[in-house]
Amino acid sequence: MLQQTQVATVIDYYTRWMQKWPTLQALAQASLEEVNQLWAGLGYYSRGKRLQEGARKVVSELAGHMPRTAEALQKLLPGVGRYTAGAIASISYGQATGVVDGNVTRVLCRLRCVGADSSSPAVIDRLWDMANVLVDRSRPGDFNQALMELGATVCVPKSPLCGECPVKQHCQAWRRVEKELAFASQKLLGKAPPVPDVEDCGVGDCPLCPPATEPWDSSLGVTNFPRKAAKKPPRAMRTATCVLERRGCHGAPEYLIVQRPSSGLLAGLWEFPSLPLAQDLQEEKEREELADHLQAWIGRPVAAAGLQFIGEVIHVFSHIHQTYVVYSLHLDGDVTLDPALSPSRWVTEDEFHTSAVSTAMKKVLKAHEKQRRKESSPVKGSKRKRGAKAQGAGSPCPGTQLSIHAFLRAPTGP
Ligand code: SF4
Repeated sequence: MLQQTQVATVIDYYTRWMQKWPTLQALAQASLEEVNQLWAGLGYYSRGKRLQEGARKVVSELAGHMPRTAEALQKLLPGVGRYTAGAIASISYGQATGVVDGNVTRVLCRLRCVGADSSSPAVIDRLWDMANVLVDRSRPGDFNQALMELGATVCVPKSPLCGECPVKQHCQAWRRVEKELAFASQKLLGKAPPVPDVEDCGVGDCPLCPPATEPWDSSLGVTNFPRKAAKKPPRAMRTATCVLERRGCHGAPEYLIVQRPSSGLLAGLWEFPSLPLAQDLQEEKEREELADHLQAWIGRPVAAAGLQFIGEVIHVFSHIHQTYVVYSLHLDGDVTLDPALSPSRWVTEDEFHTSAVSTAMKKVLKAHEKQRRKESSPVKGSKRKRGAKAQGAGSPCPGTQLSIHAFLRAPTGP
């Protein structure tokens, strides 16, 4: 749960998870739906899925016995990588094996003045070697947690607390800063001894040293390390999504949600009917494609002009910059959902929020509700840029509920 997520966010999820599935056996019996439901809002949903798959594997294939070494954990359990394996083996089973996470990377790079790209394979391998050598043989779990904690609380990315650091006398980055300070004060006194270069290891193409084009920057001090290659920008994606709404039997609105495939992004989660779009698609074409897609769900023709544009919702996943182009459609009467398609169901607003839906879909519903409130306010009205188009020929005025007959009509013309 803590991968890529802060402790404060995780605590509630962790508590609920452990209450619901206190043992591997209990977790092994859970469904992906239940796991996604509890995980909803935490992001990186594959983590929950893999935890559950791992529990299943331990119970069904390993007779309920957890592997106890980093090597076996990594080999036998799906989704367990080098870090997780090292953390479980050292903390839970006392194996003298190191761990390298983002915090440890920062500490080690500073301790040893490793200035090459810290995400390069050569540096990663060397950091693991260092961690495995440094780990305390008698208390490996405590040592690893201490090293991670040092990175989280003292050797922090910006403004590290070097003065209070318990390992500063071993730290080459700190020593370099101290030497530079000593040099500066000697210079003031008219003496200028040469500053030995701690990065000068004598090897021309050292895979751990900073590139010659990026020398030490005195103004950065120890935060010269670690260095990272520029991140790739997230891939831009556009998806049309439609809040399909109907009046439930008690008059409260209900929404159609459909389940995503069981693999890939947001696997098994529920969402409003959605359709990935080409980047440069014209609005008119976008509507037509979405209308066709909806028709497949509800089994009747949907007029593109009947889709009401709500707005755009941006959600950034780790590697995807997703823009949801949100439309809405109000349906009257009963709609028979095609059981041959992915699972789908009508939910009330409360049920929506307790279902396994992503944060992005919650934002979509929020945008829809905000628009509804605006429409019901006679003074403010709507300021939607593209909404004006949505109210053109064939589209109902905002504030009125759309009738299914207005847009579920047989296609006319050629
Ligand atoms: Fe980090 Fe400073 Fe400690 Fe070095 S002395 S490990 S840079 S906090």
